[in-house]
Amino acid sequence: MAHTVTLIPGDGIGPEISEAAKRCIEATGVRIEWDVQIAGQTALDKTGELIPEAVIRSIQKNKVALKGPMTTPVGKGFRSVNVALRHALDLYACVRPAKTYPGVKSPYRDIDLVLIRENSEDLYAGIEFEQGKPETSELICLIEKHTKKNIRPDSGISIKPISVFATRRIVRYACEYALSHGRKKVTCVHKANIMKFTDGLFLKVAREVGAEYAGRLEFEDTIVDNMSMQLVQKPHNYDVLVLPNLYGDILSDLCAGLVGGLGVAPGANIGDTNALFEAVHGSAPKYAGRNKVNPTAMILSGMLMLRHLNENAAADRLESAVKQVLAEGRSVTYDLKPTRDDPSAVGTREMADAIIKAIKAK
Ligand code: NAD
Repeated sequence: MAHTVTLIPGDGIGPEISEAAKRCIEATGVRIEWDVQIAGQTALDKTGELIPEAVIRSIQKNKVALKGPMTTPVGKGFRSVNVALRHALDLYACVRPAKTYPGVKSPYRDIDLVLIRENSEDLYAGIEFEQGKPETSELICLIEKHTKKNIRPDSGISIKPISVFATRRIVRYACEYALSHGRKKVTCVHKANIMKFTDGLFLKVAREVGAEYAGRLEFEDTIVDNMSMQLVQKPHNYDVLVLPNLYGDILSDLCAGLVGGLGVAPGANIGDTNALFEAVHGSAPKYAGRNKVNPTAMILSGMLMLRHLNENAAADRLESAVKQVLAEGRSVTYDLKPTRDDPSAVGTREMADAIIKAIKAK
């Protein structure tokens, strides 16, 4: 039976890498009906809306989406179109595997860790008070009254909510993910020593949930600054990481850096009913339409989507073909060559062609 999947090509380089991913997924033989939808800058230009209702309806109906990166136009009411989409669909778990593939430049070998970031709250909840506004002054007075601490009157304020509900949900998700993917250890990352009522709560609830998995999983915790150093010095000590939103955002780029950069970093945003797969990188507008950028991150996001659809044999063949093309280093884009001006670099389309050829030969 064919799967129906919402496909959002995205902005900038999005359409090129989405087309590459779509062709590679189809080459595995899995039958997919693509329900193509627009969002982001492309949708704003065509419909006047950044996230048309039709996109949300399509994902809610199909439950699975593959999305190219979207540009957030500056000053259009959204801090980020991507964050807004994750909120609208309650995609609370952001899953970012970081894995080294031979052929991709990295100072490390054999890294295989997964970062799971809480997607719905923390400083990304979008609750902010602008400097100089009357409500900001009101809030400052209230905080001073209750805490007896001074806040400079010319401050802006961002609110960091962390709840028992969302923490329990994300840590449980991380533990279940670890168990179902044959992983051994979950590390909770926080700054509970300083932010006792937010990160402290995250840690307390995480430990409670971790205790439910005793005997089945090792559960530990580390402070985020120490974690940043440990990841650079001893990345092999880690398996699954679970973090609140902001630290998750920062450390997922660090992890992408450990394994060769944004060009090869895939991702997934998962909720209880819907799942959206996308590369970690953005729409890189300066490369749009030039058939130049690396499609690997988007193709590997498609590989994660195939696993989510229980098409594991197809996902294995796709991953193995990507691995082969990366290891050969011949039909790869400029960023994967020894120097960025290497004349033997191929375009986005040609790299996808090489991956398709490798899939068909398997
Ligand atoms: P970006 O990731 O788009 O680009 C940064 C740089 O990374 C590029 O200039 C390029 O050198 C490199 N790069 C990115 N993807 C690459 C690829 N596939 N192959 C080779 N090199 C690649 O980040 P940015 O410039 O900060 O953001 C541009 C736009 O993308 C913004 O509007 C931002 O909001 C948006 N964005 C979207 C998402 C998403 O859709 N999930 C994520 C991040 C940023």
